[in-house]
Amino acid sequence: MATALGLLAATAGLAPAVARHRHHAEAPPKPKLSPEDVKFAAFVKDFRATAYGAGILPETYDNAMGGLHRAARIEALTQAQPEFVKQVWDYLDSAASPRRVSDGQAALAAQAASLAAIEAKYGVPKEILVSIWGNETDFGRALGSFNIFEALATLAYDGPRTDWAKSELIAALKMLQQEHLDPKAMVSSWAGAFGQLQMLPSTFLKSAVDGDGDGKRDLWHSAPDALASAAVEVSNDGWQKGHVWGYEVKLPANFAYELADGDTAKGVADWTKLGVTRADGSVLPPNADPGAIYLPGGARGPAFLTFPNFKVILKYNNAASYALAVCYLADQIAGRPAIVASWPREEAPLSLDERTALQVALTKLGYNPGKIDGIIGHEGKAALRNWQKAHGVAADGFPTMNLLAQVLIEAKQKAL
Ligand code: CA
Repeated sequence: MATALGLLAATAGLAPAVARHRHHAEAPPKPKLSPEDVKFAAFVKDFRATAYGAGILPETYDNAMGGLHRAARIEALTQAQPEFVKQVWDYLDSAASPRRVSDGQAALAAQAASLAAIEAKYGVPKEILVSIWGNETDFGRALGSFNIFEALATLAYDGPRTDWAKSELIAALKMLQQEHLDPKAMVSSWAGAFGQLQMLPSTFLKSAVDGDGDGKRDLWHSAPDALASAAVEVSNDGWQKGHVWGYEVKLPANFAYELADGDTAKGVADWTKLGVTRADGSVLPPNADPGAIYLPGGARGPAFLTFPNFKVILKYNNAASYALAVCYLADQIAGRPAIVASWPREEAPLSLDERTALQVALTKLGYNPGKIDGIIGHEGKAALRNWQKAHGVAADGFPTMNLLAQVLIEAKQKAL
């Protein structure tokens, strides 16, 4: 004690500094809020008024949004550009693996009664519904690892899709209020899709139905509820009962590949005139719907003639490879033939830098591949097709290492 008093006396002249120091040592450390945390907290506070305006009650808002933190992992995901995009054959290998097919057949048998009633009522084939189930959550094994409010609030407070995320967040709050759910138990993907078939909250409000008749619409725990609700969604999106999604075809050697852009639609008779047959060489069966040819792996891979029902699956998840995976797994579950043509499996995927370099070179050469972002999308494929056409090679718009090398050489020569 004497020593302490002596120390105090000796340091008396430095009182302000000591006081500051003591303050630091004794106060509990306050967690330092990042600018993002501050912005997130302000969003949660301000969004309350918007929610009330949409009919959300104060206790609903508190229940869902109280104590919420932003999910930094989701922010990273929205910004991440994949280094490699899986080649479609690798994607299909897992999406329609033998295990996935047998699980799908087991799921079909387990839900046979529900699925028969759903198909009769909404006109969507049971195999398509089971395939969406398998593709979305591996038949309920992977329902997502986020809280739906955490996910949607993180996407709504900042970033590229705030308006979309705000409307989905309102829909999720409405769903919570209507269905009397436990907000902590509402798990979702990072993008806010939830339940056995990964539906969005806005779609829930439009399409969800009680498939098992227990008076509740529980898309997390009831497969019949989730399957019936997805059937309503797919039907609302325009699924035509009894029409096929498409099938594999064979293109003639001299085919004008620029017609196979997935969008150019022609009647079956017109495709037949151009030499297109079924994969086994037989004549295309009559079909009143226009069909478009889709070449997921380029001119050296399988070709598919796709009809409007294929585009309906794109509304569930807007990626052609996804729609193909859903339709193909459905065919496999139903026991239809496997893909006949082989994939160009030796083609390595382009890296992010290589995809970007391709876009830069195509721009330099006067082809318009769109935004330079490393994503070879619709415009990028169209630009590549135009380049291929101008160089007398199959205009399939499928980027390969060989094609990249040729385009880079030409761009370099032009620069010299
Ligand atoms: Ca139910």
